Amino acid sequence: PLTVEVRDLVVRHGEGRVPALDGVGLTLTPGKRTALVGPSGAGKSTLLAVLMRLVDPESGGIRLTGPGGSADIRDLTPEAVRERITGLTQDPYIFQATLRDNLRLAGPDADDEELQSAVRRARLDRWVERTGWDARLGEDARTVSGGQLQRLALARALLYDPEILLLDEPAEALDETTADALMSDLLDATHGRTTLLVTHRLRVLDLLHDGVPAIGHARRRLQGRRRPRPDGR
Ligand code: ADP
Ligand code: ADP
Repeated sequence: PLTVEVRDLVVRHGEGRVPALDGVGLTLTPGKRTALVGPSGAGKSTLLAVLMRLVDPESGGIRLTGPGGSADIRDLTPEAVRERITGLTQDPYIFQATLRDNLRLAGPDADDEELQSAVRRARLDRWVERTGWDARLGEDARTVSGGQLQRLALARALLYDPEILLLDEPAEALDETTADALMSDLLDATHGRTTLLVTHRLRVLDLLHDGVPAIGHARRRLQGRRRPRPDGR
């Protein structure tokens, strides 16, 4: 399992701007779900963007440490990062095609028919079985509800079998029923997998976190409201 260490991260969206992140540090515990909370604008999405190598920090860095050694993510190619760290955004990117094609055209070996491998098929089969979707794979993705699209996006992320799974407000715009189905998928997908979850839904937080570092003002707020844990910690 991979340890992720974020150290003294400073990120600015453009020269002369106030940093979106100013000296943020945290460690993701291998195999655990960590939830990141904070008010809108605190920099949560920015942190996820750095983790996905979509944005480079001005200083500080993110180190991945595993059995094979340790590397700063800036020394890895975006593709290499993508195979290890991938996630769900609030609005999943969906091709105007069937559900089947949305699954077929995604993932690490999408361009290679030969490589649309046994492993990949097994991952998909497991997911299709979970969702009960085998009869629906021919449906146009544009006609499917937001919650089902998030489930689809999760299936695509899992084709990478990422060591780190990032979840950015995964249940944001969903009704209760679909949110429940998605949560059940997420519980399964994150079990034993290093996960960073951004959410402000308490229900999602309750179900899906093993620890809560907070950034921005939320840290103080959370500590102010802190209730004793049952185990007294
Ligand atoms: P959160 O996800 O916690 O709401 P963000 O990371 O989206 O916070 O935003 C942190 C700060 O960075 C905010 O002030 C926001 O306006 C700014 N910001 C985020 N993305 C961009 C961008 N692409 N360009 C310019 N400013 C941005
Ligand atoms: P510290 O008190 O040094 O921040 P803790 O391990 O006690 O370290 O807490 C780690 C994080 O978890 C803190 O950011 C804290 O706000 C949050 N936290 C701790 N206990 C609770 C709780 N009962 N409910 C919600 N958040 C909590």
